[in-house]
Amino acid sequence: MTGQAFLQRPCPLCGSDDAHAEVHSRQRAEDMTLEGLRPFWSGLFKEKRFFSYHRCAACGLLYTPTFFDGPQLAELYSSMAPNMDLVASDAIAATQRGYFDTVAACAPLDGGYLEIGPDIGYIVAEAARRGSFDHFWLFEPNRAIHDRLRDAAGKAPATLLPDMDDLSAVPDGSVGLAVMVHVLDHLLDPLATLAQIRTKLRPGGTLMIVTHDERSLLRRVMGVRWPPFCLQHPELYNPTTMWNLLTRAGYGAVVVERSRNHFPIDFLARQVAWAVGVKLNRVPLPSVSIELRLGNMLTLAAAPVQAAERVSRRPVAA
Ligand SMILES: [Zn+2]
Repeated sequence: MTGQAFLQRPCPLCGSDDAHAEVHSRQRAEDMTLEGLRPFWSGLFKEKRFFSYHRCAACGLLYTPTFFDGPQLAELYSSMAPNMDLVASDAIAATQRGYFDTVAACAPLDGGYLEIGPDIGYIVAEAARRGSFDHFWLFEPNRAIHDRLRDAAGKAPATLLPDMDDLSAVPDGSVGLAVMVHVLDHLLDPLATLAQIRTKLRPGGTLMIVTHDERSLLRRVMGVRWPPFCLQHPELYNPTTMWNLLTRAGYGAVVVERSRNHFPIDFLARQVAWAVGVKLNRVPLPSVSIELRLGNMLTLAAAPVQAAERVSRRPVAA
């Protein structure tokens, strides 16, 4: 009997099939079955297994030519615990407040607010408190946290939907700010999602994306043990491939910067210790959090204004 069939795909950014292998786990996920990979997906084993990452020769994107298909992913995610539960929540809150500070410094905080994968709504709460958004559109597959998200949105009308692939409920051209934090590098077809979001943004509306940076110092130091090399990431970006992707999806004013993360010192020490093979489980460590630029990047992009200018000129010309 042959193993479970996985998806085989060209580069999700440019469509080229020309790619060379760059990173693989000791045992490669593409040589295993879906059932064999399930415990690794759930994080039951410390040992790493992931689909081999290849570098596209045409556009430079780092992606996995073999990956779970859509139905396999939907089924795997439905059995998964919420994100980032390893890191204390005050550190997550401080990190996400920092992301919001960045966008608040350069974009108007009104119109609709759209977030894909808002988790428990750290940025939603900031947006509700500091902006004047007229509607919150929150796409979160984990229904167990929908009530908490509704609370985070405060008094503004909020629509919560579980399907992250279908944004059709949102009126076209209505969204002032769209947000995706650690979502884009989970998507099989990032271009399709970015194109959908672009139609929902009003002209000049802002998209903020946070992802890992596969050209970061942390990746170079940790090598194959860099945590984002995992079964949940079908591709990983760097500033150049992120710029290419957003430009191809029709966005303008693309700016990519390394973002700051707040990490509890004890969490960091355990991660580093794990990476070098030392067990620190019984060692008491301080839980103070510190701010580091540690391998994430924050990208801002804007929906083009030309279409709107055409629309607004038409009545003037008539
Ligand atoms: Zn490519």
